[in-house]
Amino acid sequence: MNNLQNILHEFVKEHPAPGGKPEIALTVGTHDPNRDNAKFRLSDAGKCRLMRYYKRQGKKADDTIPAPDLLQMQIGNMFHAYIEYACDMMGVVIASEERLEDEDRIGHFDMIIRTDGEPAILYDIKTINSKAAYYMNRNNKQTKPEHIAQVISYVMALDDAYHMANSYLKPPERAAIAYVVRDTFKIREVELMVSEHEDAVRSDWNILLNAWDYQEPPEANPTSWECRYCAYKMSCPSSTV
Ligand code: SF4
Repeated sequence: MNNLQNILHEFVKEHPAPGGKPEIALTVGTHDPNRDNAKFRLSDAGKCRLMRYYKRQGKKADDTIPAPDLLQMQIGNMFHAYIEYACDMMGVVIASEERLEDEDRIGHFDMIIRTDGEPAILYDIKTINSKAAYYMNRNNKQTKPEHIAQVISYVMALDDAYHMANSYLKPPERAAIAYVVRDTFKIREVELMVSEHEDAVRSDWNILLNAWDYQEPPEANPTSWECRYCAYKMSCPSSTV
């Protein structure tokens, strides 16, 4: 599957900038700059439940995010903006960066597109460096559980909103993660079978929502690397670092 890469190749051929070089046009806003943490973030789906609980509680992070990390996040935002702009120019975008919200959760999906009469597909775009791409390939690792949980959460939220008549957007028939390698712009698309993951993702959310209803912090369930990058790693009693 390499749908998105083909669209981008067509885009740079059809819309050459002056001098024949591709141009970055950041006219599509990405991500909410004023994140509302009064609800759980859909983009945190699949991450440590205790971290998500702390975040919604407004627990103060141990440190502010260092400037180099903030800049690195901006690289991801630029890639998102460029890809969404290119797809919009190619006339394939059904919706992008739209807000999804219920009483406990909030988030924005990246993009839903449709090409040549194909079923609509939701894309979640992840930028990675070539080293990460190399290890994913070498270890034959298609994707990560938390990335799957995030995409499935968007699809489920779209489905709920549509069926409750809170959204005009029909839930997409397909969903995929697009891994974009920062230094080559190569894209690896991983399509997900939504029905395969739905129960696990729903059950993860239910544990967290239940904990919130009772105002009882849930059991921590970090992955092996997660505490190292967690905003609460110094103050959390379950931290592994
Ligand atoms: S430090 Fe680890 S266990 Fe504690 S909230 Fe963060 S990820 Fe979860």
